[in-house]
Amino acid sequence: MNRVTVETAHKTYPVIIGKGAVQEIGRFILQMKKKPTRLFVIADEAVYAIHGSTLRNELPDSLQTDWHFVPAGESAKSFPVFEQCLTAMLEAALDRHSLVVAFGGGACGDLAGFCAASYMRGIPFIQVPTTILAHDSAVGGKTAINHPLGKNMIGAFHQPEAVIYDTAFLKSLTEKETRSGFAEVIKHALIADSKLLEDIQQTIKNVGDIKGSFLEHCLQRGIEIKSAIVKEDEKETGVRAFLNFGHTYGHAVEALSGYGKTAHGEAVACGMIFALYASEFKNNLSFDIRSFTEWLKKADYHVEAGTAFSFDDMYAVMTRDKKAYGGTVRFVLLNKVGEPYITDMTKEELQKIDEHFRREVSQW
Ligand code: NAD
Ligand code: ZN
Repeated sequence: MNRVTVETAHKTYPVIIGKGAVQEIGRFILQMKKKPTRLFVIADEAVYAIHGSTLRNELPDSLQTDWHFVPAGESAKSFPVFEQCLTAMLEAALDRHSLVVAFGGGACGDLAGFCAASYMRGIPFIQVPTTILAHDSAVGGKTAINHPLGKNMIGAFHQPEAVIYDTAFLKSLTEKETRSGFAEVIKHALIADSKLLEDIQQTIKNVGDIKGSFLEHCLQRGIEIKSAIVKEDEKETGVRAFLNFGHTYGHAVEALSGYGKTAHGEAVACGMIFALYASEFKNNLSFDIRSFTEWLKKADYHVEAGTAFSFDDMYAVMTRDKKAYGGTVRFVLLNKVGEPYITDMTKEELQKIDEHFRREVSQW
């Protein structure tokens, strides 16, 4: 079992990662400084159907445990589901020292984390992530639900007590979810580790190659990269924004295709290509975007997803982003692989890059 320690101003906590990591959860809970009074598991119902008994067997018998099931995936991050969770938490009479356990992908983790952050102004929680993407979402303490007017618009920073990341859970992921989650690994490599990017491009030739010990290595490296950034900037006033590489354009793709239709990471993959073109345009980035795109295409990423929408529609959504102001849109670009920076892009610049992107797509 491997461990990565996440340090923030508010909390230092372990990410325990590896096959069988969930076997550590009982011991961890019983050894917590303030031993929890009881447990409240918020579980993605689809994940529970496949892996619920594994987690159930590992939770300490000595603690009363309530289970609350939420709809699979993104639809869990809604006001009605949030309210139902809080109602169930009140009915279970959780107190300040009760422990919430989030069991599922990034969506369930974001929801359960926000429930823990809001209940009595904040009670402890543990993340038990079950997707590849969650190597990103479970670490760093961002929690949120969606508002009909915007994704992740209602949320809080609330660090977990621990992340127990059992990679055996990942085997049941669909190809689509595998591909989606792995896009965030590629993002971590692009913003922080050119060697990792090289290794990934050499090892992964199609989505079936995203598995085993190489996947574990990538996840651990991704978590290390994310936690180093979070350590420096817990509340996103500076470098943490680098983690949004590919996301400004990616979020617009997600919004216009309808949340849940295009997987988050698929949209981000397309957004990363746009950001690479933008980096070439603004800063002469020297990077073979074409072969990078060819490689993504071989792994069946929908690299052209954004071009299904008009520039005006994409621009309108991008200016609604939390990071936009005036008419400009804040983008993370690269000086080179491993060296991100933040810049504001004007509508005219974005339009030029968009035209170039569309021209390239037509030749792929
Ligand atoms: P998800 O949680 O929506 O899960 C995707 C699908 O996979 C769901 O249908 C789920 O039921 C299923 N699933 C989960 N684990 C499974 C398993 N082991 N086997 C089979 N099926 C399984 O998707 P996700 O990609 O993990 O997370 C996306 C969410 O994460 C988005 O809401 C995004 O906003 C959020 N996110 C948050 C942060 C953060 O810092 N908090 C960072 C990145 C993304
Ligand atoms: Zn993301």
